[in-house]
Formats: sequence, structure tokens, C-alpha cells
Amino acid sequence: MQASEFPARPVTPGAPHRKALFLDRDGVINVEKNYVYRIEDFEFLPGIFDLCTIAKQRGFLLVVITNQAGIGRDYYSEADFQRLTDWMLEEFQAHDIKIDRVYHCPYHPTAGIGEYRRDSFHRKPNPGMILSARDELGLDLSISVLVGDKDTDIQAGIAAGVKNNIKLVTSGEPDPGRLEFATLQAIGGWLVLTSTFCNRSGSQQATSESDTSMDKGEK
Ligand SMILES: [Mg+2]
Repeated sequence: MQASEFPARPVTPGAPHRKALFLDRDGVINVEKNYVYRIEDFEFLPGIFDLCTIAKQRGFLLVVITNQAGIGRDYYSEADFQRLTDWMLEEFQAHDIKIDRVYHCPYHPTAGIGEYRRDSFHRKPNPGMILSARDELGLDLSISVLVGDKDTDIQAGIAAGVKNNIKLVTSGEPDPGRLEFATLQAIGGWLVLTSTFCNRSGSQQATSESDTSMDKGEK
């Protein structure tokens, strides 16, 4: 039998099959200090490198999605942001971690200056950055995970169709039943468990309207 006589494999051309761990930046990767743009102010959160290593080992791409309205507010420039991002990626690389893509949104609907004052589909809680990553990286969001520290992060993930949207809650009492955890280490543990048990134990618990408090400290 010629090789060409074998039936074609039942694959769907171009079907997305890759999964990502979406990471908010400020308050997840680094300590939230309001409008961080200088290297000396950038402090990695304990456990972020371990969490990323766990995710990489389990086949997740790593995608950063960050509102950066400090650019639109003219607190710092695109070049400042890129300089800090380049340094951040080098620090990850020093831990053998490749961040696959960084998306940022510089706009703000009311506080942006000039061309930066506008609504943007990419500004969380809108899902634009996540959907761009889906299309550009060929991601299947139904097997992807997001980690954020604000309700707007979670809302963006849900709007985009990300399966599991995890909130890092460092003050107050996290509710693991709603995928809230107090530390990145705990999130790493959750990722290990759900990966081991075929993702069946960690499906998203929908955030109820009644106990959702919108964050006031918006970027
Ligand atoms: Mg944040």
C-alpha cells in the first residue's frame, strides 16, 4: 500500500488546540504600587516564577494582559513601558521561563489625554486583549486559565470565554469555591490538581451579581 492510500487523519485544519495561562501584571506578577513603570519599583510577587514553571510544564502558553492607562494619562510613556517589559521578560528568562506574548492597553475612556482618551475593546473588563491572543496564538479559551487580582480581570476572562478565571485575593477571605486564592502558590497547587484530574474539578464558578464589588482603584 502506498502511503497516499492511507486515510487522512481526522483533523480540522487550523483548529485551535493550544491553551494559555493569562496573567494580569500589576498585583499578580508584581506588587501593586500604582502605575509602576520603573525597574526599581517592580517587585515580583512570591511564587510567580513557580506558577509559570508549573503552567509551562503542563503545556500552557504564558500571556500577559495588562491595562496600562498610565500611558494614556501621561504618567509614563510607551517607551517606559516597553523598557520595563523588556527587563521583566529577561528576568523570567533567567528563570527559564518564556513569556509568549505581552498585551497592554494604554487607553482610558475619561482620563486619557488626547488620542488616548477613548473607550477600548482591549481595556479590561472588555475581552479584546484575550481575543487578540486567541486569534494570534491559536488558543482554545475553553481550556485556558486566567489569573487576576480585580473583578475587571475576571469579567474580561468570562466575557472572552476563558474556562477558569482565578482571582488572587490578598486582603480579606478568599473563597476557593469561587476560584479565589490568597497566594500564587495556592494557585499553582490548584493548577497541578486540575491538570492531574483532567480539568474536571476546576470549572468556573460564575461570579454572582450579588457579591461582586467592582474595584474602585482603576488604572
Ligand atoms: Mg491587577
